[in-house]
Amino acid sequence: MELSNDEIRRYSRHLILPEVGLAGQKKIKATSVLCIGAGGLGSPIAMYLAAAGIGKLGIVDFDTVDYSNLQRQILHSDADVGRPKAQSAKETIHGINPNCEVVLHETRITSENALDLIRPYDIVVDGTDNFPTRYLANDACVLLRKPNVYGSIFRFEGQASVFAPHLGGPCYRCLYPEPPPPGMVPSCAEGGVLGVLPGIVGCIQTTEILKLALGKGSSLVGRLVLFNALDMKFRELKLRRDPECPVCGEHPTIKELIDYEQFCGIAPEAEATADPDEVTVQDMKQALDNPALGIKVIDVREPDEYEIAHIDGVPLLPMSQLRQRFTELDPNQQYYLHCKVGERSLQAVGFLKQQGFKYAKSVKGGINAWSEEIDSNVPRY
Ligand SMILES: [Zn+2]
Repeated sequence: MELSNDEIRRYSRHLILPEVGLAGQKKIKATSVLCIGAGGLGSPIAMYLAAAGIGKLGIVDFDTVDYSNLQRQILHSDADVGRPKAQSAKETIHGINPNCEVVLHETRITSENALDLIRPYDIVVDGTDNFPTRYLANDACVLLRKPNVYGSIFRFEGQASVFAPHLGGPCYRCLYPEPPPPGMVPSCAEGGVLGVLPGIVGCIQTTEILKLALGKGSSLVGRLVLFNALDMKFRELKLRRDPECPVCGEHPTIKELIDYEQFCGIAPEAEATADPDEVTVQDMKQALDNPALGIKVIDVREPDEYEIAHIDGVPLLPMSQLRQRFTELDPNQQYYLHCKVGERSLQAVGFLKQQGFKYAKSVKGGINAWSEEIDSNVPRY
């Protein structure tokens, strides 16, 4: 592994660091990293890794760029909206450092392909935004003995660690043995996220990757960094390996990849579309256009969201007040509930059914689907 004269100039600020030097820069060049996700976390990770001279960068992403991504996913620009994220990412990375070999995996990472995807790489970095993929990446990395550089973000808070049982540390399951109940932790689309937050957490992950490549410093193996942007505070938790961990413990019960959607309590997509608790935005339009049908539509989003966009004539009963205020509703009345994308309204329907409501349905896709399919004058957010 040699560096060209151009590379020596490019990496000169690294080369003069005694902790890096020529030998270290060659180690960075010899390192391959698989980045799962080219979104909020994947953006700073991919850009800084490429700039730092990582030799090979794999990117797993099957999504396309949406306008609402641009607030934080700095790999992608305005002109990329509608394009595959992986391709947009490759162009941006190539623009930063053409010496970085970018390998695109334009597919969803699954239990069937995860081991083959991860096997050729030295380090895996978790830029996922959902629990099934996070547990899948964890288990695959434990089975293949690859370091898994973890980060996650939520609203104003983030966390990061390095999971590497083969280096003596814990894995993600040692920290979180069970996934949260489905719908308990809102996604960025439902809960919101400060745009710069993935920048900070992604840069922590990138720092850890470079240290692993160099073999320098003390890594986040066995430590969890917690960051709160509102208070501008970093905290640290010591993590221990759980000897009872089902994947990295002394008597592992998970010896191959499992069904992670099922493990996280999420119905497969084919079943989800046939959910008897859901109706479409077309059904909602019919209900609004024909009061004689006797169906009442209720918006369960929060007041701030109502201010951004709402459907005329649909009253608000925020999800956060539903437990206190559901008695205002009639358990024999037929209701359609909508939120932003259909996650919270489905939870609200579940809650109302527990309270004995007979005819509550959730509007699939929420007000965003309404904007796309019924009335484009309603802004999407
Ligand atoms: Zn474990």
